Amino acid sequence: MALYEFACPGCTPVEAFFPMGAAPDSLECPECGGRAERRISTPRLSIAGTSAFKLIDAAKKSAHEPQVVTGALPQSGRKRATPTTTNPLHRKLPRP
Ligand SMILES: [Zn+2]
Repeated sequence: MALYEFACPGCTPVEAFFPMGAAPDSLECPECGGRAERRISTPRLSIAGTSAFKLIDAAKKSAHEPQVVTGALPQSGRKRATPTTTNPLHRKLPRP
């Protein structure tokens, strides 16, 4: 079954389910009894399961269920970073 959209000139759009390919070109408007013509509308494809949907879902979840911080806050103030390498050529590499 697919959802088809029909438009009556004086009323709101009418939606009705029909088997695919079996929708009539017009039907009787349920509000005024007039003739509602079938309209070509965009398909309503589901976005569930896509990476965009997961990102939106994660953003909404973080607003309602933020992760709780249990550890200590990082130290404020600047400490001198300990060098991880002693090779002088590594100093020329780009910094992140
Ligand atoms: Zn109508």
